[in-house]
Amino acid sequence: MGSQHTIARAVHRHGIGLHTGQESKVTLHPAPPHTGRVFRRGEANLPATVAVAIPSQLSTLLTHGELTVRTPEHLLSALAGLEIDNVWIDLEGPEIPILDGSALPWVNAILEAGRINQSIPKTIRPITQPITIWEGDAFVSAIPSPEVRLTYGIEFDSAAIGTQWVSWSPSVDGYIAAIAPARTFTLAKYLEPLRAAGLIQGGSLNNAIVCDDQHWLNPPLRFELEPCRHKLLDLIGDLSLLGALPQGHIVAYKASHTLHSKFAQAVQLQCPPVVDNRQ
Ligand SMILES: [Zn+2]
Repeated sequence: MGSQHTIARAVHRHGIGLHTGQESKVTLHPAPPHTGRVFRRGEANLPATVAVAIPSQLSTLLTHGELTVRTPEHLLSALAGLEIDNVWIDLEGPEIPILDGSALPWVNAILEAGRINQSIPKTIRPITQPITIWEGDAFVSAIPSPEVRLTYGIEFDSAAIGTQWVSWSPSVDGYIAAIAPARTFTLAKYLEPLRAAGLIQGGSLNNAIVCDDQHWLNPPLRFELEPCRHKLLDLIGDLSLLGALPQGHIVAYKASHTLHSKFAQAVQLQCPPVVDNRQ
């Protein structure tokens, strides 16, 4: 049976946002069972749920009332990977700091705070029927399975990336070793148009791995298949907006935050949550 977890004490991190380039500070606080993961700024509250997600190709935006949180996906992924169900997330500034472009700094913050078992059953969300969301040749698909399994495929026309597949089943140690350190990546040719569009104002070779048609411009990679592992990291963060990773085998191919989010909406409609009473 899975139990809910929170953190033992408050912990904070600060840094610049990937898209705004502005400095922000995040403080994680322990929260009681059934709180969920709730962003706070001043008096405003924003529970991290599918209902408040506005996806874009490059990142996720959560917005409700006067509170908007940009680029929460790596923090949400770290919380999901470390199975932290209940936490208050105080945000001073417009955007979650990008830090090194991976989820590892958030993992380290959570480990520094300490994990606490709250001895209350989690909810799970079993996939009860096949679901596929697609756009062109990109898709996110799920079939029922007794275990959670996530598989991701990407294909880029750079020899540095090429075709990659990574598969992962939830475990805290496995997340820390195989997923969390994977950094944001991009092709150099996309950088200038994105900057011109007012995005990635805080992007640099310190918080992303960048390649041209052939080579990485800022090697070494942290491990093989780092780009595809990062896509899985993003998918974990985006699907955690359901309150729990869907219990089924999920395969994503060439997908984006937009497709992750449409898939999460479909799961929310078709597969209701249940209390995890498995022994
Ligand atoms: Zn990402």
